Amino acid sequence: MKTKTARVITYGCQQNENDSERIRGILLEAGYTLTDHGDDGDGGADLIIFNTCAVRDNAEQRVYGNLGALRRVKEQRPEMLIGVCGCMAQQTHVAEHIKKRFPYVDFVFGTYALARLPQILYSVRSQRVFDIERSGDGLAEHLPRHRQNGVTATVSVMYGCNNFCSYCVVPYVRGRERSRAPKDIIREVEGLAAQGCREVTLLGQNVNSYAELPFGELLELVSGVEGIERVRFVSSHPKDVTPELIDVMARNRKVCKQLHLPFQAGSDKVLADMNRKYTKERYLELVAGVKEKIPGIALSGDVIVGFPTETDEDFDHTIDVIRQTAFDMLFTFIYSKREGTPAAKMPPVLPPERVKVNFDRLIAEQNAVSLKKNTALVGTTQQVLVEGVGKSGGDSMLTGRTDGAKIVNFAGNQTMIGKMIGVKITRAATWSLTGEVAANK
Ligand code: SF4
Repeated sequence: MKTKTARVITYGCQQNENDSERIRGILLEAGYTLTDHGDDGDGGADLIIFNTCAVRDNAEQRVYGNLGALRRVKEQRPEMLIGVCGCMAQQTHVAEHIKKRFPYVDFVFGTYALARLPQILYSVRSQRVFDIERSGDGLAEHLPRHRQNGVTATVSVMYGCNNFCSYCVVPYVRGRERSRAPKDIIREVEGLAAQGCREVTLLGQNVNSYAELPFGELLELVSGVEGIERVRFVSSHPKDVTPELIDVMARNRKVCKQLHLPFQAGSDKVLADMNRKYTKERYLELVAGVKEKIPGIALSGDVIVGFPTETDEDFDHTIDVIRQTAFDMLFTFIYSKREGTPAAKMPPVLPPERVKVNFDRLIAEQNAVSLKKNTALVGTTQQVLVEGVGKSGGDSMLTGRTDGAKIVNFAGNQTMIGKMIGVKITRAATWSLTGEVAANK
């Protein structure tokens, strides 16, 4: 008998990718084989799950568009199952909308229901299933997992968020903070190391408010796992960056000298309206302290342009933070109104065209800084953890990352994959570096 195939399509952040690994693990245990094939014709998957993101409206619209496109396919292959899960699905108004507007969607489940997926797959044989109940802690330690990349991996250490930034839907769809036990995290990292993983990124919506231990201690424990050469973490909230954490980062050679520290806006008024719990001055002090303790640290951040109460003068403070901090990389977003959040009730002061002008200005400023910082690395030798074959240039073009998370492409042979290789940087672009092998470590 032909085995049934399943396809998982993921939107959004690394946390969602991480959840998709567990969804794939459950599907494999349920007897499916995994596919990335399209959904049409005989080669189409028997089951498709969209693991969705609720952080921005355009990601939601893409999901609705893709569900709409499946109407035809479902008419041709009515036995195909379609499911929607993740942050978007956790919202009651979204689940209701899918129920009415997409009658051919067979099941919807929220972020708390991952562990119930095996039952959902069973029940859906006889009826449509909608499970957005907030029962259970969602940690679901016992779930199987299917990972794709052997050299690097993400490990969720906590879920949820207590911060309620006024624009953000995460606390509503992921719930309050829950931290995993250190022993469970270490066991997972040991398993990864045994399979050849060399770098782990600890994940959490608010990773450094990890509650079971001071976060620096968790970093020490994870970096102590034999075989693990690098440890990173995302995303940090500035209010939870402690001197102890910075000390651990400074002294532990396995903890990457890289910090992703979202700042979101430069104006104190906008930061207060966002409920971010710090000021521009405090953020800049924090950055200055980190740079002093860890010279050369690679910094990245998230910033939102066009928050409803942001004026042009407020936006100038955002530009000022960018200039003073000199981020290596910045993740930039135009404000997206999210139903049910306090910011959704704030009337916008700037028209969308003006927000776009500010956004373009921000990108131009940051691109110049990123290029300058990358160009400063030309001629240096960087230790690159080789992750695999690059996207272009054939099988001999490898790709990996520096300690500061910069992408480096270079010619090499595939025996280097999974190893730390010294690469001399020869060329810089805004988003990546090119180099040549200098010497094996
Ligand atoms: S810290 Fe703020 S932006 Fe980040 S997930 Fe929590 S509420 Fe959202």
